[in-house]
Amino acid sequence: GVFAPVDLRTLVLEMLKLLRYQLNRRTSRLICLELDESVPPVLGVGAELKQVLLNLIFNALEAIRDKGTITIRTGKTDRWIVLSVRDTGCGIPSDNLDKLFDPFFTTKPVGQGTGIGLSTCYNIIRQHKGEITVESVENLGSTFHVKLPIPAMGE
Ligand code: ADP
Ligand code: MG
Repeated sequence: GVFAPVDLRTLVLEMLKLLRYQLNRRTSRLICLELDESVPPVLGVGAELKQVLLNLIFNALEAIRDKGTITIRTGKTDRWIVLSVRDTGCGIPSDNLDKLFDPFFTTKPVGQGTGIGLSTCYNIIRQHKGEITVESVENLGSTFHVKLPIPAMGE
């Protein structure tokens, strides 16, 4: 795809519009938004970045099951523009953390998980010269951080 400016805040809001029906079915699932309006656009392929966000939201929904909170946040550090998806779900055993982004790694029952979501995210973010990292505590929840380069001036 062709790289173009992508506003992450708009991307998140568009994605939630698409998911509105799924998210409204159960009232004990909360989506919390912490979208910083001052974050500049990233350079990327909008459709691919949407795919990343969708995979992270689906995983978060599967992790919280019927009850919990998903927080989607955008922000900026001195090096990166950051999009984070945090959930109050089952968390990830530390033994699994280094396999998470491997193709076909899944802990879900046959027919429910393919294990390609996070490896796809990894590949897309690598093509954007970014990083994807995870922090997790078992039984408390997980946070995935997507870090994308801050576009150089005039880029
Ligand atoms: P799949 O969802 O098909 O299993 P993914 O590549 O999306 O494949 O995720 C791989 C594995 O990483 C999952 O099976 C699960 O064990 C773990 N995982 C991913 N996201 C989360 C999350 N938010 N909370 C807990 N575990 C997660
Ligand atoms: Mg998945």
